[in-house]
Amino acid sequence: MASVGNGDFTFAGAGCGVLSDGFSAAALFKQGFSYTYDDLIFHPGYIDFAVDDVELGTSLTRNIKLRTPCVSSPMDTVTEESMAVAMAAVGGVGFVHYNNTAREQAEIVRRAKKLRAGYVSDPACVRPSDPISRIDALRARRGFSSVVVTEDGAVGSALLGVVTSRDVDFVRDRSTEVREVMSRDLVTAPAGSTMEEAAGVLIRSKKSLLPLVTESGDFVELLCRTDLKAYRELPPLGAPSVGPDGKILVGAAIGTRDSDKERLKLLVDAGVNVVILDSSQGDSMYQRQMIEFIKRAYPELDVIGGNVVTAYQAKNLIDAGVDGLRVGMGSGSICTTQEVCAVGRGQGTAVYKTAAVANALGVPVIADGGISNSGHIVKALSLGASTVMMGSFLAGTDEAPGSFFYQDDVKLKSYRGMGSLEAMTKGSDARYLGDKTRLKIAQGVSGSVAAKGSVLRLVPYTLQAVKQGLQDLGVPSVKAAHVGLNAGAIRLEVRTGAAQREGGIHDLVSYEKRRF
Ligand code: 5GP
Repeated sequence: MASVGNGDFTFAGAGCGVLSDGFSAAALFKQGFSYTYDDLIFHPGYIDFAVDDVELGTSLTRNIKLRTPCVSSPMDTVTEESMAVAMAAVGGVGFVHYNNTAREQAEIVRRAKKLRAGYVSDPACVRPSDPISRIDALRARRGFSSVVVTEDGAVGSALLGVVTSRDVDFVRDRSTEVREVMSRDLVTAPAGSTMEEAAGVLIRSKKSLLPLVTESGDFVELLCRTDLKAYRELPPLGAPSVGPDGKILVGAAIGTRDSDKERLKLLVDAGVNVVILDSSQGDSMYQRQMIEFIKRAYPELDVIGGNVVTAYQAKNLIDAGVDGLRVGMGSGSICTTQEVCAVGRGQGTAVYKTAAVANALGVPVIADGGISNSGHIVKALSLGASTVMMGSFLAGTDEAPGSFFYQDDVKLKSYRGMGSLEAMTKGSDARYLGDKTRLKIAQGVSGSVAAKGSVLRLVPYTLQAVKQGLQDLGVPSVKAAHVGLNAGAIRLEVRTGAAQREGGIHDLVSYEKRRF
């Protein structure tokens, strides 16, 4: 048995003679091919630890640590406040898109930072002087059955009562003021209570609603019995990602134009924790100038640059001062860049080549795009990425923006590339350096993805599968995967087309694929 290690981890493996098998990544990626995740397969390693001992803690940037290696993409069909809250709740982070005005984006960040998973994100509030018909209108528009009554009719003002359907169902005169029907007999919990504390109060109260209030009695957030029941059926979520401000960690994307400096100011005022410079080809003078500006103006703010796919591009952005690198060009499920522009790289090769440079210089890599299953996440992390960024994988969840619709009895949500004509018409063409040109060339498509339920269920189950993958590889952590990769202890090879077919489901007349 040969063994390699860096002091923290030791890999035992078949290292010489007839037992020398497969390729080290360094040898495999020298061969002149551009490999995708599906082209590659890893050899199993030696297991001397339990699956629950696998540590998925990782770095998003030089200064930001995450409990789980997953982030959501800054796309207008993926990340707004609900996704940002859910991604933080599962220990990752969401990047809010910027296909909106600077004020709208900053407002999304501000709202997300106030929210917590499991609580009603944006409770409907009315004033005591409002007529019941206002509640009817709110219900019709937003589907709530209960509303909170506060002095100013908004979150953040004095809590006065609640109105449930039981209070108003049989009131004939809908011009009756809310104060005449609202319940004043309230049980509340202090703002900032943990979910367990708040749940305990709600369960004991036997009420359907629990408002959380500040010491001075101002309404902050709402816990509902029905939501609590659903929350309790979720897998354990662990601690959320929290920033130094004590609020959930939220990221946001910006471009590299002068107007993005004003956008950034609003985002910083809203409390954004990290920004990502959004470009399909990030190795540019525009990005370099923006990185320099941000480092001068906001030295405390971590900046992620990209996208890049080569070692040279990675080094350029690291020299410019980025704290993290976003890697991928043409690997996204909605992306047509490689077809339209003839540039890009297979994502497996891109991650390996950029991470080899970046990890040596202490800059974590985000493997962006092309993740369609837990195996792809295992591959990305084992090729040197510290986190994965996902678009299509998350776009069908409850927390992604937009409503579900049905097509041929399948429940779907819209998902579109930020370089699709539809998204660019709304403004996202800066990412493709196209905003000043008259002719818009699409580098993405617009489509739909299947419904997947909540991020709060999907991500924990997916990460359990990732842990099993790392265990099979014989690596107990993301860090150990990187050490094993560099040392040549992680062995891999390329799958032929037939091997890929064999590795998938085959030779069945029918089957049902249940994820978990
Ligand atoms: P997915 O997870 O769906 O495979 O890929 C998401 C990633 O694709 C995003 O994070 C982003 O880097 C990239 N992307 C998003 N929209 C477009 C597009 O319209 N064209 C291209 N080329 N890439 C896109």
